[in-house]
Amino acid sequence: MTPHRIAVLPGDGIGPDVIAEALKVLRAVEDRMARPCEFTEYSVGAGEFLRGGDPMPRETFERIRTHDAILLGAMGLPDVRWPSGQEMAPQLDLREDLQLYCGLRPIRLYHAADSPLKKYAAGEIDFAIVRESTEGMFSSRKETYAPDAASVTDRLTITRLGSERVIRSAFREASRRKGLVALVDKANVLPSMSYFRRIFDEVGEEYPEIRKEKVYVDAAALYLVQRPHTFDVMVTENLFGDILSDLAAGIVGGMGMAPSGDIGDRHAVFQPSHGSAPDIAGRGIANPIAAILSVAMMLEWLCEWDACAAIRGAVEQVLAAPENRTPDLGGRLTTEEMGGLISSALRR
Ligand code: ATP
Repeated sequence: MTPHRIAVLPGDGIGPDVIAEALKVLRAVEDRMARPCEFTEYSVGAGEFLRGGDPMPRETFERIRTHDAILLGAMGLPDVRWPSGQEMAPQLDLREDLQLYCGLRPIRLYHAADSPLKKYAAGEIDFAIVRESTEGMFSSRKETYAPDAASVTDRLTITRLGSERVIRSAFREASRRKGLVALVDKANVLPSMSYFRRIFDEVGEEYPEIRKEKVYVDAAALYLVQRPHTFDVMVTENLFGDILSDLAAGIVGGMGMAPSGDIGDRHAVFQPSHGSAPDIAGRGIANPIAAILSVAMMLEWLCEWDACAAIRGAVEQVLAAPENRTPDLGGRLTTEEMGGLISSALRR
């Protein structure tokens, strides 16, 4: 039987620790999968830059792109920067080079105790942010400026092609969920955003069965705290999506609980929404659940639905016991212990 060929990029900081647990969990569900998995590990990130002078060598990229799916830990370290001061971010290069335009960030509250918003029970906060991941406010990120420049301008690029494809992804995602898409923009101020809104209206006509709403990004930040249960799918520009995803992670327990998938027409990268978390790296206390739930997303994308559902069920089951928490959620478990509990729940 042809295996799923998975490229594994553990990366920097807490990346390798959470990926080790995610792979442990993946092995625990392999017997529920139609096809086995075959893993190949690649060194990419700030650590690779320190070793060889390039955070993602071209030949590594060419090999990575031949895989069925890519599982990534986290990349970048605060002390390893380009001369411009920017951190190494090969994960952003992958999104652009492989055209992974749909940044899917599901936000689900697994246990009432883990939300700072006290009125929500498990499952009552359950929505997804679809972040455009190839253009928007990140368009000019590789440009440089002269040290004596009198001003620096970043560009927010919205293209018809880029918008249509990500908005369609949001409508398709809503058709698998509660059937509501919220466009999040700043169309009252920015011309690029009023263009994005026009394209949303046009594409929306293809999906008459999906309910639609429009929210300015500043109001969206407010509503995510006041009434997150009213959202189903939110679709937005790259930087707005970046910021709102962290806010949204915060209402369900923090970055350690937020998985993500960067999905294109042919390739996809799955990774926890968090970064390399240098403040806790090397201490063995990172929460591996975001990485484990990213593996569940990867299995869903590979059409391994039973294995995907089993992982989500095991996470829910483990978190049902209040003592099963890593320090970010107020507990005392190590990364390895949390991964072990979830794998054991799957093997039972
Ligand atoms: P980015 O690379 O996206 O800019 P960052 O390095 O600024 O990210 P993160 O790495 O996401 O920030 O971390 C933000 C905060 O969340 C840190 O205090 C970090 O310790 C915490 N954090 C992130 N991921 C986890 C995790 N898996 N477990 C526990 N805490 C985490």
